Amino acid sequence: MPEPERAAKPNVAAASAPTRMAVVKTMIGLTGGIGSGKSTVAAMLAERGAVVIDADRVSHDVYLPGTEGHDRIVERFGKEVLASDETVDRVRLGTIVFDDKQALEDLNAIIHPLVRQEVARRLLAASQEDPEAVIVVEAALMTETGWTGGSGTVWTVIADPDVVIDRLVEFRGMDSTDVLLRLKAQATNDERRKFASVVIENNASLEELEEKVGQLWIELVGPDEDD
Ligand code: ATP
Repeated sequence: MPEPERAAKPNVAAASAPTRMAVVKTMIGLTGGIGSGKSTVAAMLAERGAVVIDADRVSHDVYLPGTEGHDRIVERFGKEVLASDETVDRVRLGTIVFDDKQALEDLNAIIHPLVRQEVARRLLAASQEDPEAVIVVEAALMTETGWTGGSGTVWTVIADPDVVIDRLVEFRGMDSTDVLLRLKAQATNDERRKFASVVIENNASLEELEEKVGQLWIELVGPDEDD
């Protein structure tokens, strides 16, 4: 498992929406519920050349030791949320915010703006490196929060709850009741369908998913001249 990339301290200029939007040519917000297959779709898009920014991973990077997020979490929740290596212990933090609404709101108020700024910084960096890049911002909670990473085009991956449960029990060793509880806490598939511009149904095989993603990619960038 590679070390997580260290988040830079937020850069206000890079996070400014007009600057960002002026340079990003093609951008997609990719979302979906737990186990729906969004990371699988993101990987398929990356294989075709897309630059993928994983907002869920960014949300962990923004409170690595040495970042503003780390300082602010310690300020709000105390040193008891730190592990011996100074990283924020997510299990301890999760226990604190689990049944304390105010604590959860405070945590979100610290993390969400930092994630948005850091995603914007990475978007800007990627589009400066390659102005033609197709940039995909992958995030679990777009339907729930309305935040799309700045993209007007949202693709959502959808799988039936039974299919998600079977996959997560089989491939992640999760407990089926736990998966069901998590599914119930999220947006429904109907809400996702209404929110997204493109719906990728993922109830069948990986080959079929690959075919759908390949087709969408061609619609986005045009056919590969070698094909
Ligand atoms: P999470 O938000 O929980 O990280 P996710 O939406 O990113 O989940 P994936 O990790 O892409 O979901 O997929 C969940 C599991 O289902 C993975 O083990 C993946 O390999 C498997 N999977 C995804 N799509 C298919 C498919 N069409 N056929 C078989 N397995 C699949």
